[in-house]
Amino acid sequence: MLESVAHNRIAIIGTGFSGIAAAVRLTEAGESDFVLYERSGDVGGTWRDNTYPGCACDVPSHLYSFSFAPNPSWSRAFSPQPEIQHYLRGVANSYGVTPRVRFHHEIEDASWDEADRVWRLNTSQGERTADILVSAVGGLSAPSIPQIQGLGDFEGPAFHSAEWDHEAELDGKRVAVIGTGASAIQFVPELQPRAASIDLFQRTPPWIMPRRDRPISKVERRLFRTFPALQKAVRTAIYWGRELFALPMLKPRIAGRTELIARKHLEHQVPDPELRAKLTPDYSIGCKRILLSNQYYRSLGEENVEVVTTCIREIRRDSVVTVDGVEHPADAIVFGTGFKVADMPVGHQIHGRGGVSLHETWAGSPTAHLGVTVGGFPNFFMLMGPNTGLGHTSVTIMIEAQVGYLVEALRHLRRDDTSVMEPTPAAIRGWRSEIDRLSEGTVWTAGGCNSWYLDDNGKNSILWPSFATSYRHRLGTFRPDEFEFGPGRTARVAVDTSVSA
Ligand code: NAP
Repeated sequence: MLESVAHNRIAIIGTGFSGIAAAVRLTEAGESDFVLYERSGDVGGTWRDNTYPGCACDVPSHLYSFSFAPNPSWSRAFSPQPEIQHYLRGVANSYGVTPRVRFHHEIEDASWDEADRVWRLNTSQGERTADILVSAVGGLSAPSIPQIQGLGDFEGPAFHSAEWDHEAELDGKRVAVIGTGASAIQFVPELQPRAASIDLFQRTPPWIMPRRDRPISKVERRLFRTFPALQKAVRTAIYWGRELFALPMLKPRIAGRTELIARKHLEHQVPDPELRAKLTPDYSIGCKRILLSNQYYRSLGEENVEVVTTCIREIRRDSVVTVDGVEHPADAIVFGTGFKVADMPVGHQIHGRGGVSLHETWAGSPTAHLGVTVGGFPNFFMLMGPNTGLGHTSVTIMIEAQVGYLVEALRHLRRDDTSVMEPTPAAIRGWRSEIDRLSEGTVWTAGGCNSWYLDDNGKNSILWPSFATSYRHRLGTFRPDEFEFGPGRTARVAVDTSVSA
């Protein structure tokens, strides 16, 4: 029987950095039949959602942007969140991406239909189909709030840093902050002067380096506008500088100098030996993401801040109670507790052959060939998938490598007049063992910390354990021998162009 559902050749989920990059490159490659599904009403992904005070990037602006869309107007060396969001909206508009976005379409489930060889998408606005599914949901889209006993009884505002409640009255209040990661170290210095007091619940102290931020002068900006090659040269210099930064993480025995800089930073900013002891990490630098701040340590030395290192036992109506029985009164709680990275919701929502979800396929250790394609999931491509995160440089480099690879793969599908592809078991095994081999001896596996880079099985399934350059090189050539190909969608799926893009 013929059916009629809105169909596109390519469906992209998400409109953050990776979704936008994919749309731009597909357009350039002559693909005309694709849409982007976005659960929210705006593009920007994590940079749209994270609006907490002090939110900014810790990768230099000239590198934390697309190589094909340089922005000569960055106001600072490290861009604040509103500028990045503005940049992404600008790229989406100027490259014709925005009209292709189906806003307020949340993907509830995407399943490969083996009989008709098509992806069936259940969106919050009804069913859609696609030949090719691209997941561009990113790793930082699902906030993680720990299930602490009694949390539901708390009477004041309690929210996650990625869902900042701007209506909540925090001025003059006693604020409990849980977590001391990349987000918390940015918003704590902003909260400290406003709050009556802050109890900062720290489980593990991060390593923190000085943040070499500065305004970019009007003269520099004019020069970048007039001489684009100059901005390109600056970007290239930052790129190679950042690549060098990977060395102490890949070879922890040469991390002494990096650690010394961080120790000096702590000593310089925290004169109180008791507080300094609490803030001194006991694992190798780089094992968890190295954070950058010039204000965080200083703010912790202020009189209205207490760093609590005892574990939390429960939350009551108006307090947080630690395992030593001490009750810490609180009018508000802010969770800076990070994101569901290894067990992201998309793992449960995408089903391949036989209705098996990504989560089931992975069994606790997410893996994708080159971080992009998954066995048993035909015509499925992940952007910022497993083992493509970075600890030392800009993820936009990885995203651009992946969308280039996606375009090559799709070109190959057309050329061979076949329509369905998935990686071979040998390619998947080879990639997994390459990742395990590269991870061995790096600070991420040998650094003595418990980080979210490691999955439930203790394997690195988040980070690319090498230089960004080698990943780009690896993805520079599409190798058809790493894939199985087959025929595409059956004629039973009729394309309803009236509701397509
Ligand atoms: P995060 O780095 O994962 O930090 C989460 C913090 O919460 C950690 O201190 C963690 O302690 C703590 N925590 C988690 N569960 C807890 C629990 N049950 N009890 C007590 N403490 C708990 O999260 P994030 O700060 O939101 O940053 C997430 C990622 O976002 C970063 O790694 C980075 O990739 C990205 N980010 C980037 C920027 C940027 O400038 N580019 C800025 C912000 C965020 P443990 O360390 O003990 O686990």
